[in-house]
Amino acid sequence: MDRTILHCDLNSFFASVELLDRPDLWDKPVAVAGDPEARHGIILAKNEAAKAYQIKTAETVWQARRKCPDLVLLPPHHEKYREYSKKVNLIYSQYTDLVEPFSIDESWLDVTGSMHLFGTDGKGIADQLRQRLKDELGLSISVGVSFNKVFAKLGSDYKKPDATTVISRENYQQIVWPLPVTELLFVGRTAARMLEKYGINTIGDLAALPEHQLVKLLGKQGSKLSAYARGLDNSPVIPADQMPPPKSVGNGMTFRENLIELERVRSGLELLTDAVAARLRQEELLCTVVQVTIRDTNFKTITRQKPIAPATNLAREITGTALELVKSSWNLNTPIRMLTVTAQNLIPEGEGSEQLDIFGESEKGDRARVEKLERTMDAIRARYGQKSINIGTLSNDGQFIEPIRDHISFKDH
Ligand SMILES: [Mg+2]
Repeated sequence: MDRTILHCDLNSFFASVELLDRPDLWDKPVAVAGDPEARHGIILAKNEAAKAYQIKTAETVWQARRKCPDLVLLPPHHEKYREYSKKVNLIYSQYTDLVEPFSIDESWLDVTGSMHLFGTDGKGIADQLRQRLKDELGLSISVGVSFNKVFAKLGSDYKKPDATTVISRENYQQIVWPLPVTELLFVGRTAARMLEKYGINTIGDLAALPEHQLVKLLGKQGSKLSAYARGLDNSPVIPADQMPPPKSVGNGMTFRENLIELERVRSGLELLTDAVAARLRQEELLCTVVQVTIRDTNFKTITRQKPIAPATNLAREITGTALELVKSSWNLNTPIRMLTVTAQNLIPEGEGSEQLDIFGESEKGDRARVEKLERTMDAIRARYGQKSINIGTLSNDGQFIEPIRDHISFKDH
């Protein structure tokens, strides 16, 4: 029997929460910006009126103001967004115990076993949820209803704001296949570029290609994407409390150009730790040990570890320790082909807080600024997807360091 899965996506989430307190701004163009006073502050979210001016998430305040001089900018309140996110998920959980939050404003619900209790089908539940969130919280969602998670997600993107889209076995070829391949979950920039080279532009193109050819192009990811495009995703909706916390978080990369000398090695490490630290923050974990694995062009590989105190989930601090490890164990004139940074011996965020007393006041202020910056980047990722940042980095001589293969591994046992 087919499953019935909903993907619920809060519309303009940060901006909508801010506007709950400012009904006077409802029909004015409004954006939430990391630092509204700074020209280079970054747009985190915008309302419908601002979208009409082509205001884009992740652009600078300066770029946004050029398009819309009257744009009203509000500072973000991340604590509030987390509270509302919890309230929303609590409402979802009244319809099924299978609720999997995907980000702060998106969740999957598997209602296969529970919709009969409400005397309706997936679309009926979706419409009820839209109405309830509007009535009880003043927020709107778009919902995709389908027989798998990937298509449900496409459905919630298909029509917004405040809409339900059903993608069924009968209509998925009409709805899904004409969409650009980049809309498909987990098609990153690298994969998209590769597919484009071979004339694969739509999800339908992807579905039409024999699986073995996609595997040749993209490896294991190719077979996954092929299945997604053909509606064969059978990954389960896993409730948040059943996901075990990771034992370690690592990110490794083979670089297109070998890394040599301090500044390029530092850039490589920054690129890797950025994703590691973001994942730690997402899991509310701190790392107490940093491990670096270095491989040279002859595939000689070394692995070194070092404790980091106080425990942290800030990229800047993890990069610092990783760099010390490289400096103390590697001749920086020997080209590096592959680097991996792994955060280990993870502890919950609360357990690390008393360790911060080793810092003086000015250090604490400096650290708070770094934390704010990195959490702002998390907010952009949450709003705009992983693709928005951490894909590439510039070394100090202005050269782009491009990964040819990267992976993030999460050990769950
Ligand atoms: Mg959203």
